[in-house]
Amino acid sequence: MEEKNATGELEQQQQELTFECPKCGGKAIYEHEVNYENIYVFENGEIEIGDDRWESEKVKYSCGECSWTIVDEDNCIIRDEPSLIRWLRKEPKIARDERGEDHGEVKWESDQQYDIPYLQPGQLRFVCPNCGGEQLDAGYYTATYVFDQDGFVEYPKTYGGDYKHFRCNACRWIVEDEEYGQFNDPEILVPWLKANCDQNRD
Ligand SMILES: [Zn+2]
Ligand SMILES: [Zn+2]
Repeated sequence: MEEKNATGELEQQQQELTFECPKCGGKAIYEHEVNYENIYVFENGEIEIGDDRWESEKVKYSCGECSWTIVDEDNCIIRDEPSLIRWLRKEPKIARDERGEDHGEVKWESDQQYDIPYLQPGQLRFVCPNCGGEQLDAGYYTATYVFDQDGFVEYPKTYGGDYKHFRCNACRWIVEDEEYGQFNDPEILVPWLKANCDQNRD
Protein backbone atom coordinates (compact mmCIF):
# COMPACT_ATOMS: atom_id res chain seq x y z
CA MET A 1 0.00 0.00 0.00
CA GLU A 2 1.32 3.41 -0.92
CA GLU A 3 1.81 5.89 1.83
CA LYS A 4 2.21 9.58 1.46
CA ASN A 5 3.57 11.72 4.17
CA ALA A 6 2.95 15.43 4.46
CA THR A 7 6.39 16.27 3.08
CA GLY A 8 5.92 14.06 0.04
CA GLU A 9 2.63 15.71 -0.76
CA LEU A 10 4.06 19.16 -0.34
CA GLU A 11 6.98 18.37 -2.64
CA GLN A 12 4.63 17.05 -5.27
CA GLN A 13 2.48 20.15 -5.11
CA GLN A 14 5.49 22.42 -5.30
CA GLN A 15 6.81 20.69 -8.39
CA GLU A 16 3.73 21.80 -10.30
CA LEU A 17 4.37 25.44 -9.54
CA THR A 18 5.87 27.74 -12.11
CA PHE A 19 6.76 31.40 -12.03
CA GLU A 20 6.78 33.79 -14.91
CA CYS A 21 7.64 37.36 -14.11
CA PRO A 22 4.94 39.71 -15.45
CA LYS A 23 7.61 42.31 -16.22
CA CYS A 24 10.36 40.30 -17.95
CA GLY A 25 9.28 36.66 -18.20
CA GLY A 26 11.99 35.57 -15.74
CA LYS A 27 11.53 32.14 -14.14
CA ALA A 28 13.51 32.51 -10.92
CA ILE A 29 12.66 34.03 -7.56
CA TYR A 30 14.88 35.54 -4.92
CA GLU A 31 13.88 35.56 -1.27
CA HIS A 32 15.13 38.62 0.61
CA GLU A 33 15.73 38.52 4.32
CA VAL A 34 17.20 40.66 7.02
CA ASN A 35 19.53 38.55 9.17
CA TYR A 36 20.59 39.61 12.62
CA GLU A 37 23.82 38.55 14.26
CA ASN A 38 25.41 39.56 17.51
CA ILE A 39 28.55 41.61 16.89
CA TYR A 40 31.53 42.98 18.77
CA VAL A 41 32.99 46.25 17.60
CA PHE A 42 36.62 47.21 18.03
CA GLU A 43 38.28 50.60 18.22
CA ASN A 44 40.04 50.02 14.92
CA GLY A 45 36.66 49.58 13.20
CA GLU A 46 36.77 45.80 12.94
CA ILE A 47 33.57 43.90 13.54
CA GLU A 48 33.51 40.37 14.86
CA ILE A 49 30.48 38.08 14.73
CA GLY A 50 29.71 37.13 18.30
CA ASP A 51 28.19 33.65 18.28
CA ASP A 52 26.13 31.37 16.09
CA ARG A 53 22.82 32.69 17.33
CA TRP A 54 21.05 34.50 14.58
CA GLU A 55 17.60 35.60 13.65
CA SER A 56 16.01 36.12 10.32
CA GLU A 57 13.09 38.14 9.07
CA LYS A 58 11.67 37.74 5.58
CA VAL A 59 11.30 40.99 3.73
CA LYS A 60 10.13 40.23 0.21
CA TYR A 61 10.44 38.05 -2.87
CA SER A 62 11.57 39.36 -6.21
CA CYS A 63 12.16 38.25 -9.78
CA GLY A 64 15.65 36.77 -10.13
CA GLU A 65 16.12 38.54 -13.46
CA CYS A 66 14.70 42.05 -13.21
CA SER A 67 14.26 42.47 -9.43
CA TRP A 68 10.52 43.12 -9.70
CA THR A 69 9.03 42.76 -6.20
CA ILE A 70 6.31 40.14 -6.07
CA VAL A 71 3.02 41.62 -4.91
CA ASP A 72 -0.38 40.03 -4.46
CA GLU A 73 -3.67 41.03 -6.11
CA ASP A 74 -4.03 43.99 -3.74
CA ASN A 75 -0.52 45.21 -4.49
CA CYS A 76 0.72 44.07 -1.07
CA ILE A 77 4.25 42.69 -0.86
CA ILE A 78 4.35 38.93 -0.32
CA ARG A 79 6.58 38.13 2.64
CA ASP A 80 6.20 34.44 3.47
CA GLU A 81 6.36 31.13 1.68
CA PRO A 82 2.73 30.00 2.25
CA SER A 83 1.53 33.27 0.67
CA LEU A 84 4.01 32.87 -2.18
CA ILE A 85 2.76 29.33 -2.87
CA ARG A 86 -0.85 30.51 -2.88
CA TRP A 87 0.05 33.34 -5.23
CA LEU A 88 1.89 30.95 -7.60
CA ARG A 89 -1.18 28.71 -7.57
CA LYS A 90 -3.36 31.76 -8.27
CA GLU A 91 -5.36 31.05 -5.14
CA PRO A 92 -6.92 33.98 -3.30
CA LYS A 93 -4.84 35.26 -0.45
CA ILE A 94 -5.78 34.82 3.18
CA ALA A 95 -6.45 38.03 5.05
CA ARG A 96 -3.84 38.92 7.61
CA ASP A 97 -6.25 38.89 10.56
CA GLU A 98 -7.33 35.33 9.67
CA ARG A 99 -3.77 34.11 9.61
CA GLY A 100 -2.81 35.33 13.05
CA GLU A 101 -0.45 38.07 14.03
CA ASP A 102 2.86 36.24 13.75
CA HIS A 103 2.24 34.65 10.41
CA GLY A 104 4.53 35.88 7.71
CA GLU A 105 7.50 36.36 9.97
CA VAL A 106 9.72 33.33 10.28
CA LYS A 107 12.28 33.44 13.01
CA TRP A 108 14.95 31.17 14.30
CA GLU A 109 16.09 32.23 17.65
CA SER A 110 17.88 30.58 20.50
CA ASP A 111 15.99 30.56 23.77
CA GLN A 112 19.31 30.56 25.56
CA GLN A 113 20.33 33.71 27.33
CA TYR A 114 23.90 34.43 26.42
CA ASP A 115 26.21 35.93 28.99
CA ILE A 116 27.74 39.24 28.12
CA PRO A 117 31.21 38.33 26.92
CA TYR A 118 34.28 39.73 28.62
CA LEU A 119 35.73 42.63 26.74
CA GLN A 120 38.56 41.76 24.42
CA PRO A 121 41.46 44.17 23.93
CA GLY A 122 40.30 47.13 21.88
CA GLN A 123 36.65 46.12 22.03
CA LEU A 124 34.08 48.84 22.52
CA ARG A 125 31.24 48.23 24.88
CA PHE A 126 27.62 48.73 23.90
CA VAL A 127 25.04 49.87 26.44
CA CYS A 128 21.54 50.38 25.07
CA PRO A 129 20.23 53.89 25.87
CA ASN A 130 16.72 52.45 25.93
CA CYS A 131 17.04 49.37 28.18
CA GLY A 132 20.67 48.99 29.27
CA GLY A 133 21.07 45.81 27.20
CA GLU A 134 24.66 45.04 26.26
CA GLN A 135 24.38 42.90 23.16
CA LEU A 136 24.60 44.70 19.84
CA ASP A 137 23.15 43.13 16.71
CA ALA A 138 23.95 43.90 13.10
CA GLY A 139 21.07 43.48 10.68
CA TYR A 140 21.99 42.91 7.05
CA TYR A 141 20.11 42.08 3.87
CA THR A 142 20.57 38.77 2.09
CA ALA A 143 19.09 37.51 -1.16
CA THR A 144 18.55 33.78 -1.64
CA TYR A 145 17.73 32.07 -4.90
CA VAL A 146 14.69 29.96 -3.96
CA PHE A 147 12.83 29.21 -7.17
CA ASP A 148 13.73 28.41 -10.75
CA GLN A 149 11.86 27.09 -13.78
CA ASP A 150 11.54 23.66 -12.12
CA GLY A 151 10.13 25.01 -8.87
CA PHE A 152 11.66 25.48 -5.46
CA VAL A 153 15.39 24.87 -5.46
CA GLU A 154 16.71 22.33 -3.03
CA TYR A 155 19.93 24.03 -1.94
CA PRO A 156 19.33 27.74 -2.01
CA LYS A 157 22.36 29.93 -2.37
CA THR A 158 22.52 33.01 -0.21
CA TYR A 159 24.28 36.21 -1.09
CA GLY A 160 25.42 38.46 1.73
CA GLY A 161 24.24 41.99 1.50
CA ASP A 162 24.57 45.45 2.89
CA TYR A 163 23.95 46.34 6.49
CA LYS A 164 20.45 47.53 7.22
CA HIS A 165 20.98 48.88 10.71
CA PHE A 166 22.32 48.05 14.16
CA ARG A 167 20.10 47.28 17.11
CA CYS A 168 19.93 46.26 20.74
CA ASN A 169 19.38 42.54 21.02
CA ALA A 170 17.26 42.85 24.15
CA CYS A 171 14.69 45.50 23.21
CA ARG A 172 15.30 45.85 19.45
CA TRP A 173 16.00 49.55 19.76
CA ILE A 174 17.67 50.65 16.55
CA VAL A 175 20.89 52.57 17.04
CA GLU A 176 20.54 56.14 15.86
CA ASP A 177 22.83 59.07 15.69
CA GLU A 178 21.91 62.71 16.26
CA GLU A 179 23.41 63.68 12.94
CA TYR A 180 22.65 60.67 10.74
CA GLY A 181 19.55 59.18 12.34
CA GLN A 182 19.44 55.41 11.94
CA PHE A 183 22.55 54.36 10.06
CA ASN A 184 24.02 51.31 8.38
CA ASP A 185 27.65 52.37 8.12
CA PRO A 186 29.98 50.46 10.46
CA GLU A 187 32.34 53.45 10.41
CA ILE A 188 29.74 55.57 12.20
CA LEU A 189 29.36 52.88 14.84
CA VAL A 190 32.81 53.35 16.38
CA PRO A 191 32.44 57.09 17.13
CA TRP A 192 28.85 56.45 18.20
CA LEU A 193 29.88 53.82 20.74
CA LYS A 194 32.63 56.10 22.04
CA ALA A 195 30.31 59.05 22.40
CA ASN A 196 27.23 57.30 23.74
CA CYS A 197 28.38 54.47 25.96
CA ASP A 198 29.98 55.87 29.10
CA GLN A 199 32.27 52.91 29.66
CA ASN A 200 34.14 53.68 26.47
CA ARG A 201 35.04 57.21 27.54
CA ASP A 202 38.46 57.90 28.92
ZN1 LIG B 1 11.38 40.00 -14.01
ZN1 LIG C 1 17.77 47.87 24.51
